[in-house]
Order: sequence, then structure tokens, then C-alpha cells
Amino acid sequence: MSLVHPNRIFPLNDRPMREGAVVYWMSRDQRVRDNWALLHARELALKLRRPLVVFFGLSPSFVGATWRQYAFMLAGLREVERDLRALGIGFRIVTGDPGEEIVRFAEVVGAGMVVTDFSPLRIHRMWKDAAAKRLAVSLVEVDAHNVVPYREASPKREYAARTIRPKIHRLLPEYLTDFPKIKKHPFALDSALPETDWEALRATLSVDESVGEISDIVPGERAAQGVMDEFLKHRLNRYDRDRNDPNVGGVSGLSPYLHFGQIAPQRVAYEAAKRDGAGADAFLEELVIRRELAENYCFYEPHYDAVDAFPEWARRTLAAHRGDEREYAYTKDEFETGKTHDPLWNAAQRGLVETGRMHGYLRMYWAKKILEWSASPEEAMATAVFLNDRYALDGRDPNGYAGIAWSLGGVHDRPWFDRPIFGTVRYMAISGMKKKFDVERYVGGRISQEA
Ligand SMILES: Cc1cc2nc3c(=O)[nH]c(=O)nc-3n(C[C@H](O)[C@H](O)[C@H](O)COP(=O)(O)OP(=O)(O)OC[C@H]3O[C@@H](n4cnc5c(N)ncnc54)[C@H](O)[C@@H]3O)c2cc1C
Repeated sequence: MSLVHPNRIFPLNDRPMREGAVVYWMSRDQRVRDNWALLHARELALKLRRPLVVFFGLSPSFVGATWRQYAFMLAGLREVERDLRALGIGFRIVTGDPGEEIVRFAEVVGAGMVVTDFSPLRIHRMWKDAAAKRLAVSLVEVDAHNVVPYREASPKREYAARTIRPKIHRLLPEYLTDFPKIKKHPFALDSALPETDWEALRATLSVDESVGEISDIVPGERAAQGVMDEFLKHRLNRYDRDRNDPNVGGVSGLSPYLHFGQIAPQRVAYEAAKRDGAGADAFLEELVIRRELAENYCFYEPHYDAVDAFPEWARRTLAAHRGDEREYAYTKDEFETGKTHDPLWNAAQRGLVETGRMHGYLRMYWAKKILEWSASPEEAMATAVFLNDRYALDGRDPNGYAGIAWSLGGVHDRPWFDRPIFGTVRYMAISGMKKKFDVERYVGGRISQEA
């Protein structure tokens, strides 16, 4: 029986499998352990008695990413290269358009077939479509990012968590399993691939280096494992109570690692599910249901980062309030530099710029205020996506696009009471925030960190 569930595997072209090395075109799932795409590629290579090589196409400037995100990713990939070599698996990273570079690499290395991982985002799908057409050999996708494979979870765009939850829960017993261990690969390429010169690779990038690395978070698979272990041991049992208070470090801090695939969501979910209690239940709701709902949204909604993706009721109500007077209206620059009249908003934004992170509860308030203080929903959407993707370590993620669309346009939400600017899109007030947590303490803490 195959190691990998057949429902995770999806052919992207109808080209044949040939004699030759098996290539895993690693993209979103940048890890060696607990990776269904790598396990599938190795299983094929073993059966065919062929070498296994991992290829990574490095886009020199990736949708708004800055050096901050590149540095985190490249450090993780360095670890991937070391670990693959120890397993007898080749690794090659090449700067260029990944959809073109994989075709070139497959020819050079004499690939017999190519396996890749899954992402619902437009750019990744464009690369894969281009490669699927141009590769002379078979290209298959393996969903290594979701616990329940996205096509299995639902064949259509879901309305809300309540509609996808029962579907995922029904399938979880089948998919929420442990992973087999990846073993050393016995067949090597005739001539080994050269080790990567990481400094030279950096020089091939054209990214904005003014947004720098974050020093208090260690990238990579081992670090991710450590963050998970620490969270499960000390904070999971209180997650249901602590997760909405930005003054308490009650959340996992795993999103940068999950975003770059340095840890498998299924590993985290599997370990969390071993522990009972309200903390584990609340955590699994976010990690599995909400996260996989965001994947579903981006896969079935091509305009996931635009107001066109908002449900009909939200587009109508926002249009009806388009002309409402804005008591405050800020430019993108004023937002970016945290110069609004609201100390909480400014503290959250400056924290994002400085640390690459913003607490999940504040993120909702942050985005909703961008809608309230922008000239139009379109402008608000563009500002929120720009700031999140530029500064957040976990930016450019389906969760980010879904989170912004939820905040600004009622995606996965329902109509509330009618009020200015928002219409019936759910509103969040500073008074509500003050009831939930000590806002002054949070703002004071950030100011003293900046001083
Ligand atoms: C406006 C806005 C922007 C956001 N931008 C991003 C983003 O760019 N990248 C990103 O990964 N998440 C984003 N989120 C979702 C959520 O806020 C973050 O996933 C979470 O704050 C990350 O911190 P954590 O890993 O400590 O979360 P934890 O609370 O420990 O949760 C664990 C994991 O569950 C998942 N999760 C938690 N909350 C959500 C949610 N609401 N929707 C979907 N998945 C969730 C994430 O994978 C998260 O890492 C955004 C939410 C909003 C409202």
C-alpha cells in the first residue's frame, strides 16, 4: 500500500513517466520531515530505483516580499539542504521564474517525473500551469499542507466555518495520522549537485532590504519543532482563555513556520489532538478548521485579495455606505508609519513593522480600522494587503487574505447591525477592545520597547 493517501495526489498534466531521476519541486512545504510530497517522491524513486532530487525555484522578487521574509525562508532552506544531503537526496536552488526554471532543471537532470506541493495562491498556480504545459514528463501535485486534502474537504467555495466544519470533522479520523519517517535514499545521481553558495544566491535577488531580518525568531524545522513543543507543554491547555489577550503570550507563535512550511500543520494538529481539553479544542478549530477554510477560500475564489470576493450582501451594504463621511481618513503612508489618532492602532502597526508579527486579536481591529479610515473599501483592501504582506513574517498567506476579507468584507461572516461606513459588516470599537484586555498596558509596553 502506498505511504501517501491517494486523495492527496493530483496530476497536473497527462505527460508520461519516463526513465530518470524523480524531482520534487519544493515550493510551499519547505521541510524534510513530515512532508507528504517528499515522501511520495521518494517512494516513486525507490520503486523505480532512481535518484531523488529536490529543486527549489527562487523568485528574485516575490509579490511584495522583503528581505525580512527572504532571510527567514533562506535560513530554513539551508537546513533543508543539509538534511537532504545526509539522506542521500540532492538539492538544487536556482534564481529565476520557478515555472520556467523547473522545466530547464528537469531536462538537465534527466527527470523521469516531477512531484510538487500544493498552494491555492494565484502565483503558485501560474508557475505550475506553465510548467505542466512545458514539461516533457508527468507533473503531479501532492497536498502536503492540509490535514484533509483541499479537494476532499470541499468541491466548492464554502460560506463559513459552520459549513466546512462538519465536512472536515467527518474526514479527520482518516487523515489526522502520524507521518512515516523519511529514510535514507539508496540511489544517487551520477555526478553530485554542487553545494549551494548562499551568499552568492543572495546577490541574485532584487528585494527591498530596507525591511530587515527579525532577530528574535529562529527560522527552520528544528526551531519550529521547539516552538511547537514549548507551546503544547506550557500554553495549549489555556489557549481557549488566553488567546484573545495580546498582553499574555497565549498563542503558539507558529504562523511564520507554518507559512513557510517549516512545520507541517498535520504534525502540530496530531500532537495537539493527543491532549484533551477546551484549550486543545479551541486550538484545533483555528489550526485546522479556520486555516483550511482560508485555503478553500483562496482556491475557489481567484479574487481573494480584492473586494470582488466579498459576498453579495457585503458588497451591497458597503456600496450603500460608500458616500458616508469619514471622520478620519489616512493615506497609506500615514497608516504605514503608525500616525493615526488611535494609540492602540499605532502600537499594533509599529509592532508589526518592528517585530514582523501582530497578535491575531489585534489583527481584526487593525484591518477594520483601515476600512473605517480609508476613502473606500478598495483603498482599504489595498492598504491592508500591502502592509500585511510587506511586514508580516507570515504574510502572503491564504490566512492573511481570508483574514483581511473577513474584516473588511464579511467573508465567512454574517450581516450585523447597520452603521456608518461598514453598513452591516461587523464593526469593532475601541470600547470593545478595552473590555477584552488591558489596552493601556499593551500600548505602554510597545512605547517602552520603542524608547
Ligand atoms: C486582518 C488579518 C490578517 C491576518 N494575516 C495573516 C497572515 O498574513 N498569515 C497568517 O498565517 N495568518 C493571518 N491571520 C490569521 C491569524 O491572525 C494568524 O494566523 C495568527 O494570529 C498567527 O499567530 P499564531 O500562529 O500565534 O496563532 P495561533 O492562535 O497559535 O493559531 C495557530 C495557527 O492556527 C491558524 N489560525 C489561527 N487563527 C486563524 C484565523 N483566524 N484564520 C485562519 N487560520 C488561523 C494559523 O495557521 C495559526 O498559525 C490574519 C488574520 C486577520 C484578521
